[in-house]
Amino acid sequence: MSATAERVPYTQASVSRDDAIAAYESILSDVGPNYAAPIRRFEDRFASFIGVDFGLATSSCTGALHLALAALGIGPGDEVILADTNWVATVAPVVHVGARPVFVDIDPISWCIDPVRVEEAITPRTRAVIATHIYGNVAAVDSLACLTRDRGLALIEDAAEAIGSRLRGQHVGSFGDVAVFSFHGTKTISTGEGGMVVSSDARLMDRMRILADHGRDPSEERQFWPSEIGFKYKMAPVLAAVGLSQLARVEELIAGRQRVLEHYRSAFGEQSGIRLNHAPSDVEHGAWMPTLEFLEETGITRDDAMRHLSDAGVGARVVFWPLSSTPPFTGMLHAPTPNSYRFSRSAVNLPSSSNMDEDALACVVEAVRSLMIR
Ligand SMILES: *Cc1c(COP(=O)(O)O)cnc(C)c1O
Repeated sequence: MSATAERVPYTQASVSRDDAIAAYESILSDVGPNYAAPIRRFEDRFASFIGVDFGLATSSCTGALHLALAALGIGPGDEVILADTNWVATVAPVVHVGARPVFVDIDPISWCIDPVRVEEAITPRTRAVIATHIYGNVAAVDSLACLTRDRGLALIEDAAEAIGSRLRGQHVGSFGDVAVFSFHGTKTISTGEGGMVVSSDARLMDRMRILADHGRDPSEERQFWPSEIGFKYKMAPVLAAVGLSQLARVEELIAGRQRVLEHYRSAFGEQSGIRLNHAPSDVEHGAWMPTLEFLEETGITRDDAMRHLSDAGVGARVVFWPLSSTPPFTGMLHAPTPNSYRFSRSAVNLPSSSNMDEDALACVVEAVRSLMIR
């Protein structure tokens, strides 16, 4: 912790009076036989917002990913390819189903998994590729979709950080076979904890529904009859009610974050030696987490930036450590991932929230500028 009080928190949830009223009303009315009503509504509306056929609301995005992997039949002896730069939530379910994670390098510009490295890592045991849209940046889903289709692999999108990110107008999460989203307290839509798995594959969805409800088949007539051992990953009705309330103003929540990223872009855009989230012309960026990378020529490292910003009261955060550098996965790399390591040493997350005010923005801009001219 820094000695200076944090003047600009790295994020703040945007909870409206309507969200709170929705929660209050749901607690009173969505009980007994009505408990599923807001959940089904949230699933249907979220799926249509993403542009897929089905959604299944879960207690977390991590649980959603666990369901997806289990429903795809991935297990011991199988390999799942993902980027070394990822939050641990993306890999933990791979380990939970008994499969082996295979970490590959990121693209240095998009910070997302590099499809060339994916192709090199495919073996006869590979079953799936997880593409994470890191910090709202859009992963190379076109080439990954071609590659996985050709090789008979599943493409799973981890879109936890990418609500509002669209490629050619099409929302991420609709390019792969299945995708997962998070409504954790830090994310663009926030129910405190919560997630959603979406897909247009009806059979996969049916399978996930059974697995999410203790292995109970909805067509089974007997009560309390598990046909297999599943999980308990269902969302609480009150959280679905909050999610629905936020989904009704999702474009406003996204626009708030885009305003923050664009503010940083116009403030730092002229500076050489730094890079903000990549957004090519065919991408609309959801702007969940503005991230600033210092190129080698600046001589500024993540640690310099963290110290300086923290002294200025700015709540910056380190970007994800390469998973292969963390205790559960040391020694697990089959090929070096220099871009993941360089990114980790040279980039930080800047504060962002939908309702961030001008003073807070000015404070961050000033702190970064003074770091650059030290
Ligand atoms: C937040 C996040 C998750 C996990 O979401 P939870 O809802 O906390 O389980 C997974 N993947 C990525 C990339 C995330 O940012």
